[in-house]
Amino acid sequence: MSELRQDILTGNWTVMAPERGKKPKKLKTAKSKDLRDYPQYDQACPFCPGNEQRYEINPVVELLNDHDKWSTRVIENKYKIFDDFNTCPVQPEPFKKHGIYSYYQGCGNHYLVIEHCRHNRIMGEMEPEEVQRVFNCYLKTLRILQKNPNNLIMIMFKNQGIKAGGSQPHAHSQIVGSRVVPTWIRNALHVQEKYFDDQGHCAMCSLLNFELDYSKRIVAETEHTVVLSPYAAGTPYEMWVIPKRHIAWYGNITEQELTDFSAGVLRVLQAYVKALENPDFNYFVHSSPTPLKGIPYYRLFVQIVPRWQNKGGFETGTKIPVNSVLPEKAIEIF
Ligand SMILES: [Zn+2]
Ligand SMILES: [Zn+2]
Repeated sequence: MSELRQDILTGNWTVMAPERGKKPKKLKTAKSKDLRDYPQYDQACPFCPGNEQRYEINPVVELLNDHDKWSTRVIENKYKIFDDFNTCPVQPEPFKKHGIYSYYQGCGNHYLVIEHCRHNRIMGEMEPEEVQRVFNCYLKTLRILQKNPNNLIMIMFKNQGIKAGGSQPHAHSQIVGSRVVPTWIRNALHVQEKYFDDQGHCAMCSLLNFELDYSKRIVAETEHTVVLSPYAAGTPYEMWVIPKRHIAWYGNITEQELTDFSAGVLRVLQAYVKALENPDFNYFVHSSPTPLKGIPYYRLFVQIVPRWQNKGGFETGTKIPVNSVLPEKAIEIF
């Protein structure tokens, strides 16, 4: 089982997970190979259909395609960051102490969403209903993870390619249920709560109103979703996909909103494939901690960030990114 340790100088947590060191890395080379150049099926891939018995895969969620075969499925991660609730306390416990330090048993859940049955299918080339199934799987998994009271937050993200931290070529994303809410999310919650208290309305709502009015950083506006190039983007061509309605927690999105929302993500990834030669990227679903489902000052959105190169000394030291493409210019890829 992993262990979380807190840095008393910053409040940040580190997961100590020696087990993860055994994780096989299929993506090894420094230069990313285009994932579309892999075969349609790989018999050594733990995620390809037909290999389930060899890799002991037991899906917890499965969505079918028009031919009644699985198209998208959710499985438990073999190399989990946190252990499941069978070995965790029934309720979250106070942090343990080692002298001056705090630590905590790595409780929670770690699932993988296998996004497509085909080994070399990338999300940027999927059909809208295929991407929708992926986002639907997040919703179904979130409802399962909610049953574990140790999961105070569900972290949903995707790493495509080696520069984004991907270790398997077969398209997948991840959902981690965690007892600890990362300090940067806590910080965003505090900043937005203060904005709400000072201004009387929520920060993302006012951002959206301003951007729609200004219009020069808007990529698309549909019935339920806005896609925009964020004003203070930290990375060239970073994009945000935001539901139009104020929703704090991903589990509160409706079916129609989800259809539009996943279409917004696809729209960004299609532009990356067409105009930017399919760069490695991460996306992260910003969703409130579970106990804060209904808060009026925090909003759900997806942040999509291409990964071009490793950070330099200034960026690593200061945590202030340097962006060489103005967000107003970045929308020209659409
Ligand atoms: Zn595969
Ligand atoms: Zn709002």
